[in-house]
Amino acid sequence: MPLDLLATPATRLHEAASRHFGSQPGAGVATAVHAAALREGRFAPERLGLSARAAAGWRALASLQLPTVVHEVGESTAHGTVHKRRLRLADGRAVESVHLPMGRNRTALCVSTQVGCARACTFCETGRLGLQRNLTAGEITGQVVLQARERRPDAIVFQGMGEPLDNWPALQQALEVLTDRHGLAYAQERLGICTVGHVPALDALRELGWKRLGLSLSLHSANDAGRAALMPHAARYPLHEIQAALQRYRQRRNFALGVHWCLLPGINDSPRDVAELAAFCAPLGRAWVHVIPYNPGTAPIARAPDEHEVARFVAALRERGLAVRRRVTKGRSVMAACGQLGASAPATHLTSA
Ligand code: SF4
Repeated sequence: MPLDLLATPATRLHEAASRHFGSQPGAGVATAVHAAALREGRFAPERLGLSARAAAGWRALASLQLPTVVHEVGESTAHGTVHKRRLRLADGRAVESVHLPMGRNRTALCVSTQVGCARACTFCETGRLGLQRNLTAGEITGQVVLQARERRPDAIVFQGMGEPLDNWPALQQALEVLTDRHGLAYAQERLGICTVGHVPALDALRELGWKRLGLSLSLHSANDAGRAALMPHAARYPLHEIQAALQRYRQRRNFALGVHWCLLPGINDSPRDVAELAAFCAPLGRAWVHVIPYNPGTAPIARAPDEHEVARFVAALRERGLAVRRRVTKGRSVMAACGQLGASAPATHLTSA
């Protein structure tokens, strides 16, 4: 089985090449192959001035397969266009990624880590698909490489389809590749993981010692019963265990945890919700609460909150002393907003553009 170039850091590629060729192929060749794969999505050893035999050797050793764009939609915003892409993988299954304008000419790519998701959050389209399979590390980095060929995203957030920490081994490998200085060379602080709270994987993430990596918790209800109703399979770990894992996670003094709250009118916007959210955050140190107005999908569990309701909830949190950001809604009209991915991707395989 050839090495997947999108899943292999440059040093490992060099080691594999040394074994494969039975001699030193030159670190420069491995580095050039890696850089072209990650920065340009290209694998063309023939263009590196190698002999035909050496180029054939490289083709036997490694391969590169980017996902295919089968559908693309956009929504104009004040800062630029939100682009959602549906991508076909090698086995015909599909995932979506979203390129988001963030203002000041910066962009972020929202990346998927699974086809579907096992967590079945009631406000999320992806949860309705169930888990079809984990993505490989190469399928995760491939979404970034595909986008970077047109415009390199300034930040990568793992909050597309799937629960990233349910696919921790592949995600860890993808993080290594994305931060490899010979390839895309993302700084840790440009990468952000959003999880419903997978306690063992949070500990594994901490053990990596990547102090500048971004981390957010999808909370949405700060009591176990409410969370179990909203996120049936996210409630595997009780909130006090998640809270303890997040306290352990803190690796630098100025680390700011993100706490995501999908605001659902009549479901999680009461004064009691405000009080419970404040109590949950209190022992966590520096944290930003991101209030995300609900984006109704194909089977809405509520209506979207109006501006007045969002402002009232944000003000109530600030009164409790919490640092709050109100997430600007982007991509809702094309089902590209938070909680809407996967709606247009059938559970069966895609066959055509
Ligand atoms: S919100 Fe996240 S964890 Fe929950 S079902 Fe959707 S993708 Fe999965």
